[in-house]
Amino acid sequence: MDVNAALADASTIPYWLDSELRPEPLPPLTDDREADLLVVGGGFTGLWTALQAKERDPDRRVVLVEANTIGWAASGRNGGFCAATLTHGYDNGEAHLPEENDRLAQLGRENLDAIEAAVAKYGMDVEFERTGELLVATAPWQAEGFAESAAAITALGHRAEVWDAARTRAEIDSPTYVGALYEPDGVAMLHPAKLAWGLRAACLRLGVRIFENTPVRAIRSTPAGLRLEARGGSVHAPRVAWGTGAFPGPLRRLKHYLAPVYDYALMTEPLSDEQMAAIGWEGRQGIGDCANRFHYYRLTADNRILFGGWDAVYHFGRQVSWKYDQRPETFETLAEHFFATFPQLAGLKFTHKWGGPIDTCSRFFSFFTSAYGRKVAMAAGFTGLGVGASRFAGTVMLDLLSGEDTELTELEMVRKLPLPFPPEPVAWLGIKMTTNALIKADENEGRRGPLLKVLDAVGMGFDS
Ligand SMILES: Cc1cc2nc3c(=O)[nH]c(=O)nc-3n(C[C@H](O)[C@H](O)[C@H](O)COP(=O)(O)OP(=O)(O)OC[C@H]3O[C@@H](n4cnc5c(N)ncnc54)[C@H](O)[C@@H]3O)c2cc1C
Repeated sequence: MDVNAALADASTIPYWLDSELRPEPLPPLTDDREADLLVVGGGFTGLWTALQAKERDPDRRVVLVEANTIGWAASGRNGGFCAATLTHGYDNGEAHLPEENDRLAQLGRENLDAIEAAVAKYGMDVEFERTGELLVATAPWQAEGFAESAAAITALGHRAEVWDAARTRAEIDSPTYVGALYEPDGVAMLHPAKLAWGLRAACLRLGVRIFENTPVRAIRSTPAGLRLEARGGSVHAPRVAWGTGAFPGPLRRLKHYLAPVYDYALMTEPLSDEQMAAIGWEGRQGIGDCANRFHYYRLTADNRILFGGWDAVYHFGRQVSWKYDQRPETFETLAEHFFATFPQLAGLKFTHKWGGPIDTCSRFFSFFTSAYGRKVAMAAGFTGLGVGASRFAGTVMLDLLSGEDTELTELEMVRKLPLPFPPEPVAWLGIKMTTNALIKADENEGRRGPLLKVLDAVGMGFDS
């Protein structure tokens, strides 16, 4: 299969953002103004925070400032897997927060239900499909933990099924599958850019003032609160919610906890009815495979396949730059793996190829912190699973800023920070060594070498 021919005409714009529905940017800030709450960042975290702030108190003056345009960053270029989990999977939650993991799993379900309800309430056309997720094993060792994981999920009152190779291939026909864990309710598929734009419209309808192309550059304390200096003007507010993803900006303390790691994806042209019939996939589940280096893939509403994952690329000095959004060698690898997964689709073309930075933290799920005497609340570190969890993060930030102690502000997940990453060059070296150790573990039937064992022991081990 000539993958270069399949990739030859692919646009470098993220598929979801390459749409005539993309709204014209709202004008930037050009004056100095007052607000009751300032939200910084116009991705899912900022948008859900602003929306919920207005839902809680319609009279509150809420201003949201976005450095670029709403949803241009991770929120508009992800896989669109909207997962219930708040902890990057139940097992990762168990490793980090065993005392409250079951409660977090329950809160995560409630959060996903609330997203579904908000999509309906505000009439957001986001192609929301609660398909569930199929974790597929492509080697026998990957299926070893399925029965245990299914038992943990069903013990919480949710549905889970373990499938053998024949059952899995009857659902979706890939010669690479040896089994699967199917969780029908815990994940929805959606169109992420449409969600960002839908949230933008809902915020505007509730009276949130949004300024695009307005990067915040500095924060100063005032007797009555904080003044945030942005390009073109400033906003004075007693409370600030900070949701800037992989870009910590002037809040330097975030920097130590975040490593921007690039993730990449391809989108195919729409499949014909015959091509769809050749693979099955009538349940339209989101699919992830189970090695440390994994792929995620899904159907769109018009039956394209998004195929992403595998390489996770960190650049020395925590660099984030548009020039890293394209990585030809990763696109070629993904295309090869795509056709190995679905040889029936030989000849299919890719229409889009893109990447973006993921706000990785050492525990792989969001963390929260505050500054300026709890006048600023921050949430970040979703580590590639923030489409659903970002709404919960908004709820937590509003609770933190309320000054009240609530169930959420008392969670260990909220009170405890992940381990910070070391300074350079140790961070770069450590991430490089860990990536190599994870690749080795995959080649070694999942057996984790000494470095990964040490990282597991200190709470920095990644297991997809
Ligand atoms: C390729 C890829 C695939 C992914 N796939 C999935 C998936 O399938 N499922 C899933 O759950 N998650 C996925 N993720 C992660 C998910 O997209 C993020 O966790 C989520 O979108 C986080 O939203 P956010 O608002 O925190 O960050 P962002 O969407 O990055 O938004 C932050 C915003 O803050 C703005 N900003 C930054 N600095 C400033 C400043 N100083 N002033 C004003 N504004 C500022 C930025 O311009 C940006 O718009 C993926 C991510 C990538 C990159």
